[in-house]
Amino acid sequence: MVSIKRILLPQPIEKEALSLLEAENFEIVLAPDKRAETVAPLLKGVQAVILRTGILFSKELMNHADDLWIISRTGAGVDNVDVSAATEMGILVTCVLGTNTHSVVEHALALIFALAKHLPLMDREVRQNNFDIRFKNLPRDLKGKTLGVIGLGRIGSELARICHHAIGMNILGYDPYLKSESMAVFRGWVDFCDMERLFRNSDVISIHIPLLPGTKKIIGAREFGWMKSDALLINTSRGGVLDEEALIQCLRGKRIAGAGLDVFAQEPLEQDNPLKKLDNVILTPHTAALTRECVITLAMEAAKAIIEVLHGKRPQGIVNPEVLAHPRWQGFPLS
Ligand code: NAD
Repeated sequence: MVSIKRILLPQPIEKEALSLLEAENFEIVLAPDKRAETVAPLLKGVQAVILRTGILFSKELMNHADDLWIISRTGAGVDNVDVSAATEMGILVTCVLGTNTHSVVEHALALIFALAKHLPLMDREVRQNNFDIRFKNLPRDLKGKTLGVIGLGRIGSELARICHHAIGMNILGYDPYLKSESMAVFRGWVDFCDMERLFRNSDVISIHIPLLPGTKKIIGAREFGWMKSDALLINTSRGGVLDEEALIQCLRGKRIAGAGLDVFAQEPLEQDNPLKKLDNVILTPHTAALTRECVITLAMEAAKAIIEVLHGKRPQGIVNPEVLAHPRWQGFPLS
């Protein structure tokens, strides 16, 4: 079995997860800050890392490790890990799948409702004694409208299910990678179509695809140009999947009604990012999965993956299963 003794935390994790690790007598090294130059020297003699999103685990950073076996992500996205470099080095990468689905779905719903019902504006106006704003009839109903979902995986499909079955929305879906057995689940209530039809016909568009080399800026000026002038765009996936500059132009020119964004091309959002000046956008700081309940579960699942490996068990959420054929892992099979 792989001998895991020391675990590095580039950022703190919840006490519930720490208790799990302490029960196994691991030595825990908490980085004083998450900058790569701080974390790099701390990687020496470390067998496992629990990784949140605040730091990029590049090949260069991993080169500082001399006995690293597992990088355990506390979320689903692994775009802050150079997975191919990790695989080359024989480092197992795991993530936590599914745990944050409902938190992200609820957040996407919150953005949709806040935009459709103009909650930020209504709140502001009431505080400024403009109760008469109610007579402008700005809020919109969602029932009977069309939601376009890009990526019908765990989060996208659950959002679609709630919006259709609970709210009464029609659903257009775009996901060319869905297997036929998954497609069967949606038969009768998701109308699968191409991106152009989805963008042209949706009242609300919500993005739920991973950030991969093939999905970088996959949504840009052309797609925004297809949107209805009163449509809303929601992105809780990753900022890099859309062309942020093109979206800013589109929102600035009021070519669409608004956007709800939890994720950005650069995080934290730059001080002078023009999005901050636009009143037709709601911004949240990548908090969709950071509910009080969810962060505890995510950190505990990430800790459990390391404990499983320590005990020779195959953890859930392996991102690079091919690494187990790496010469380093011969003699340390996971069952
Ligand atoms: P998932 O893997 O279950 O679903 C992703 C879906 O996207 C899959 O069905 C896949 O076939 C589809 N897809 C891939 N490439 C596509 C493309 N080019 N066009 C259309 N569809 C495509 O993932 P999930 O758990 O639903 O999460 C979706 C994304 O949400 C994650 O990759 C992650 O980046 C993001 N996320 C964000 C937060 C947050 O805090 N904001 C939290 C969790 C996940």
